[in-house]
Amino acid sequence: MKSIYGVTIAQLEEYFLSKKQGKFKATQVFEWLYKKRVKDFSKMMNVGKENILRLQEDFSLEPLKLLTKKSDVDVSKYLFALEDGNRIEAVLMNHDYGNSLCISTQVGCNMGCHFCESGRLKKVRNLEASEMVRQILAVEEEEQIRISHIVLMGIGEPFDNYQEVMNFIDIVNTPKGMDIGIRHITVSTSGIIPKIRAFAEDQKQVNLAISLHAPNNEIRNQIMEINKAYPIEQLIEAVRYYYEKTKRRVTFEYILLKGVNDSRENARELSRLLKGINCYVNLIPYNETSHIEYKKSDKETILAFYDELKKNHIAVTIRREFGSKVNAACGQLRSNYKEE
Ligand code: SAH
Ligand code: SF4
Repeated sequence: MKSIYGVTIAQLEEYFLSKKQGKFKATQVFEWLYKKRVKDFSKMMNVGKENILRLQEDFSLEPLKLLTKKSDVDVSKYLFALEDGNRIEAVLMNHDYGNSLCISTQVGCNMGCHFCESGRLKKVRNLEASEMVRQILAVEEEEQIRISHIVLMGIGEPFDNYQEVMNFIDIVNTPKGMDIGIRHITVSTSGIIPKIRAFAEDQKQVNLAISLHAPNNEIRNQIMEINKAYPIEQLIEAVRYYYEKTKRRVTFEYILLKGVNDSRENARELSRLLKGINCYVNLIPYNETSHIEYKKSDKETILAFYDELKKNHIAVTIRREFGSKVNAACGQLRSNYKEE
């Protein structure tokens, strides 16, 4: 049965219209689901007996099953079981500006970035929108909090699951529902160019982050398989196109890997590459994992890289390190449970 949490408000309006019901019923159901958090259709007092029976027949209200949780200062990692037995993770980060949840979009990932844990588990399947929405609902219920920011940086490549990710964004952004601000949602992609262009044409005001991680094709080919299909110059061109269409500033993520992409010369080359693009660079200290040989850059190297970008007038920040103790950094999620 289809989960009600994967239905957009437009789809639900369509549903009620097809049953010769007013489409405002959809708004009412959204309010019960996401404002009042009712977990039983029979409690949706104003939608009418007949409609309650219909909803019960057509949709499920199953929550995601929370298996375990690990917490550290300001960060918690959650492991969920899906109905088919697959497992995914989400990470909650408490910032001074609110609670941000990093969610998964696929079971595994096929992009095969060499430094990434998620990519070690080949894609098993895409997540449905409901499985993304329910990660938020489960964490909010567990912690008795509201999530204000969403980052699509957990397991999976969001643009390899484009339609469900767009439905997810639509559902959580619906004002009569969860009402998470569109500018509080960030999608991160390893660089699937046709989807960056489609996203630009959609004109959504969602934040876009690009996992760049290298200043040239030679280095990027070494660490990211996707660069062989979509090389850097085409990626940059797609980002320019995105900016033209949306006027939204793009974030480039750049993991610093010791001896691979972290020299001053690399920083200068990166500055030249990004010159004239309205963007900023987020330098990410690499989270080492036991399975992968890459090492994180030293503090001084990170700072030197940062200085070099600054000197070249590139807007840059260094990401605060979250949850290395619980292996909870975004992008570092995977099946540690497999070994535990
Ligand atoms: N597939 C998408 C989104 C998920 S990965 C993407 O690649 O953009 C989210 C971010 O975490 C990416 O920038 C990814 O490169 C980064 N990441 C992956 N493994 C990491 C690690 N071990 N330490 C730090 N960042 C990592
Ligand atoms: Fe997939 Fe992103 Fe990991 Fe690359 S970094 S393997 S795209 S999850």
